[in-house]
Amino acid sequence: MKISVVVPCYNEQESLPIFYREFCKMRETTEEFSGVEFELMFVDDGSYDSTFAVMQELAEKDNNVKYISFSRNFGKEAAIYAGLQNATGDLTAVMDVDLQDPLYLLLQMYKAVIKDGYDSAAARRVTRKGEPPIRSFFARCFYRLIAKISKIELVDGARDYRLMNRKFVNAVLSLKEYNRFSKGIFCWVGFKNKWLEFENVERRAGETKWSFWKLSVYAIDGIIAFSTVPLVLATAFGVLLCLLAFLAIMFVVLRKLIYGDPIQGWASTMCVLLTIGGVQLLCTGILGQYLAKTYMETKNRPVYIINKTNCGDR
Ligand code: UDP
Ligand code: MG
Repeated sequence: MKISVVVPCYNEQESLPIFYREFCKMRETTEEFSGVEFELMFVDDGSYDSTFAVMQELAEKDNNVKYISFSRNFGKEAAIYAGLQNATGDLTAVMDVDLQDPLYLLLQMYKAVIKDGYDSAAARRVTRKGEPPIRSFFARCFYRLIAKISKIELVDGARDYRLMNRKFVNAVLSLKEYNRFSKGIFCWVGFKNKWLEFENVERRAGETKWSFWKLSVYAIDGIIAFSTVPLVLATAFGVLLCLLAFLAIMFVVLRKLIYGDPIQGWASTMCVLLTIGGVQLLCTGILGQYLAKTYMETKNRPVYIINKTNCGDR
């Protein structure tokens, strides 16, 4: 039995050694893992600190450490994809390097997959302690919204932390899209998944790579990748405005016929103009978002480019 652990790292020179130490400790102290071979697959997502040097150092000492280093920052999704593509384990886990994904859960995941017959087991945090309240609020709104407008059932607080069997990994890899929203992809592929709950843990070292802005863009990407409802909404808006316009025209024409044509109504004209202009731009924007994503997909660019790796020399 072999377990690959994919760990995306971006500027994590402080966290990486701590992670490695804790991971080894967990592995040695867990009886159930005594006969299990581990492969640590670190993916350096174009870090500009010494993350990659730390990885190479670890790989020199430990044969089970594999690394993939990108030519630039391609994002966590790309890093996960690269890791999964190169993982050779019977089971594969994805885990953050900052120890916000509690290591003790790996055993529970392992049991769920090996003993209880689940195809994957994933972690979800039930609290968001230590996070700015405004961020938690918007995160909750996002989960509620995407549950309503897409077919996938994203669970609030779902992490990318997950253990999967080969069948599940192959299914995830069969989705070759460029705009990868892993949380959605993991749900989309189906199979039997078990959710394990835990309380939020704060980052051990380094800082989060997610600004509020980056998170917002990520949320929009997620919606666009898994739902076309915004397009339907744009159409509905259009229909509604057409109806309103029809009523307004009737009103204007009748008033003209009854009362003649005194010059007035600059204010109302401006209101109508601005509203329609705004809605039009909004809808064009929505359309543009989908078009942009389609454009990127049709280019068929690779999801990531590797600079250095030791994955070939097994
Ligand atoms: N990460 C990455 N590429 C990026 C941003 C983040 O590989 O462009 C990695 C990062 O090193 C960490 C994980 O993704 O292992 C989660 O990032 P972070 O802890 O910053 O996110 P948060 O836990 O705050 O959501
Ligand atoms: Mg984190």
